[in-house]
Amino acid sequence: MKIECIKTHHIKCQLDKPFGFSQWSYDQRNVLLIEIICSDGTTGWGECYGPADVIQGGVEKFYAPRIIGMSAYSIDQVWHHMWRASLDFARSGVMMAAMSGIDMALWDLKGKLLGQSVSQLMGGAAIDKVPCYATGMYFQDLPENMLLKVLVEEAISYAEQGFKAMKIKVGKNPDFDEKLIVEMRKALPTTVLAADSNHAYDLPEAIRIGKVLEENNYYWFEEPLSPENPELFRQLQDKVNVAIATGECEQTRFGFKKLIEQGGVQLVQADLAYCGGPSEALKIRTLASASGLNMIPHVWGTQLNLAAATHFLATAYPEPGRAETKPLFLEYDRTENPLRDELYKVNVQVVAGEAIVPTTPGLGVDIDLDALNKFTFNTTETK
Ligand code: MG
Repeated sequence: MKIECIKTHHIKCQLDKPFGFSQWSYDQRNVLLIEIICSDGTTGWGECYGPADVIQGGVEKFYAPRIIGMSAYSIDQVWHHMWRASLDFARSGVMMAAMSGIDMALWDLKGKLLGQSVSQLMGGAAIDKVPCYATGMYFQDLPENMLLKVLVEEAISYAEQGFKAMKIKVGKNPDFDEKLIVEMRKALPTTVLAADSNHAYDLPEAIRIGKVLEENNYYWFEEPLSPENPELFRQLQDKVNVAIATGECEQTRFGFKKLIEQGGVQLVQADLAYCGGPSEALKIRTLASASGLNMIPHVWGTQLNLAAATHFLATAYPEPGRAETKPLFLEYDRTENPLRDELYKVNVQVVAGEAIVPTTPGLGVDIDLDALNKFTFNTTETK
């Protein structure tokens, strides 16, 4: 069964209301989807995380012509063919995001060809529901006292929907962040809480905020520091007793080997649409496991990446093993995203804060081609 055709779909939409985090604000969504068609007409879909128009060039001009005609079953062979072809200039970055989307589409395709779900291909699901954490509480252009109130109300609304875990944004400024961390805990005394600064702090600020998170029983502190300063993570870990999470900017087993060896990281957060795809994510999980660490994917984008991460977590063995298993939470972005909520006729079902692991062949989500048409900005086709 050969790869016959590779299409890319740059989809985009304007948002009703912009939202911000420590670095900037979003007012639109852009995603690159990959569609791979094999010789019997079966189609697999994947998605890439990163600048859609730039990644599109990488797929169309570079990788697609090189893998047409290869076996649709031989995912690892295709991956290493692409890797070797671009090793001299693209060991990481947007070209790896391009490879990730192709790899994800091949997992979907192989599952459909074999009549197996992606979790079956990954070794079998250990659970049929994955607990989610709601990602939200992004910044808005409001006075800080009003923003604080709005964010706490948003978090309470997720608790009312059944989410037992959620993640807030910090990194606006340390004074505001401290107040937000404390107010959230007061409002939600039993909820699992995490905080994400998107690498907004220097070391003294990260120590200060880390101590507040520790005092308020937060589960993890995400991207406290810049990924360009790995030596600071270990110094932070020595000063605070809260799990440090990072990895959404990192790629490949080679990148994560360095990240894990640097120390100071307890939760590894590769994104399956960016780190090299599900194939590479499995290798990264093995590396993490060998160091006694858990990998919980970063998830942003549409249903394909969400489905891939759901299958991935359903097949995880939490470290360390014990009878009362430690939950590994699936990131479930709750910010406005029509490309996630209006593009598919079959979505990942999330009920009372838990994602039902799809059991149909492939990733188990299904794109509505009329909706795809509506959101499409640009497409390419390589045969
Ligand atoms: Mg993050």
